[in-house]
Amino acid sequence: MDMKIALVKGDGIGPDIVDEAVKVLNKVCDKYNHKIEYKEVLAGGAAIDKFNNPLPDETLETCKECDSVILGAVGGPKWDNVASELRPEKALLGLRSGLNLFCNLRPAIMYPQLKDACPLKDEIIGDGLDIMVVRELTGGIYFGKRGRDENSAYDTLSYRKDEIERIVKKAFEIASLRGKKLTSVDKANILNSSQLWRDIVNDMSSSYSDIEVNHLYVDNAAMQLVRNPRQFDTIVTTNMFGDILSDEASQITGSIGMLPSASLGSGTLGMYEPIHGSAPDIANQDIANPIATILSVAMMLRYSFNLLEEAERIEKAVYDVLDQGYRTSDIYSEGTKKVGTKEMGRLICDAI
Ligand code: NAD
Repeated sequence: MDMKIALVKGDGIGPDIVDEAVKVLNKVCDKYNHKIEYKEVLAGGAAIDKFNNPLPDETLETCKECDSVILGAVGGPKWDNVASELRPEKALLGLRSGLNLFCNLRPAIMYPQLKDACPLKDEIIGDGLDIMVVRELTGGIYFGKRGRDENSAYDTLSYRKDEIERIVKKAFEIASLRGKKLTSVDKANILNSSQLWRDIVNDMSSSYSDIEVNHLYVDNAAMQLVRNPRQFDTIVTTNMFGDILSDEASQITGSIGMLPSASLGSGTLGMYEPIHGSAPDIANQDIANPIATILSVAMMLRYSFNLLEEAERIEKAVYDVLDQGYRTSDIYSEGTKKVGTKEMGRLICDAI
């Protein structure tokens, strides 16, 4: 397969971790005879420095022309005091909306080797966790009509049928690549928009008869995530509920440097990035954990290119390297072997 990939390294540890992810991608593509062409573009603080614009047109255009985008992270104290329209984070919003990415995937994976980092009891987490939160990203209350006067304020939560259908369809497709169980989270006992959401999930479920579907109210879902997280495989929900639940789910795994994410649209183009930020406190020191970005590349192979075996090969390599006891300093514990960013990348390449 031929792939054209846009690389947005970004700021802080962005270049350190993206470089390792690229090495891993090259290694797996070598093994399976895929050809990759990279287009490196600037966004965030690096683009402000060069073009006085966090998201230059050329960056967005290049990303649109590519098959997929790998992003490190943007931002840092150097740009904290710039005008709000020039903030590095504007680049992320601009890329998501410019590429029409309405579906956010946040897996919460807890590796058994890192059990100690999980704040939950052993009997609750068992052999590890692997939950996928599918969040609607471009509609709902964050984008509704809003207003404020001296004595009141309001925000509007509304969803159109087509907006719900496209995210629910994605969620069914994702669940079918995973454990074939989909939990839809809403507040249908109170909200009209949730009742529509629930009806659509039920209607669409007849087209996916191999997938087990259930519904939870969001308050119950928040509780179940810490009481019995192993009941979940794939969760689909609205923008705000997904924002909150995906953060909760990621924290039960206890390790910010390990968690990848993806933002998808209706075609195959996606943007893949770690959930963490640019960690300016550890930039350029060869200590950042590259695994979240490396696992983002595995997600890209699975969700944008349908290369399931190649994706699993990367995930297995990460598992094996952790099993051999290698750790970057953020996940280091006594009795394990501390390695730097580059060494972690090399070990994962070797394991592939
Ligand atoms: P952060 O995620 O960058 O860092 C939080 C803590 O986690 C820090 O102690 C950091 O050293 C550590 N950490 C993060 N990633 C790590 C990794 N891969 N390996 C080891 N340790 C890691 O969050 P923050 O400090 O709140 O934000 C720093 C900057 O990043 C800010 O400018 C913020 O706006 C930006 N940010 C960007 C994104 C993004 O690009 N998607 C997301 C969040 C924050």
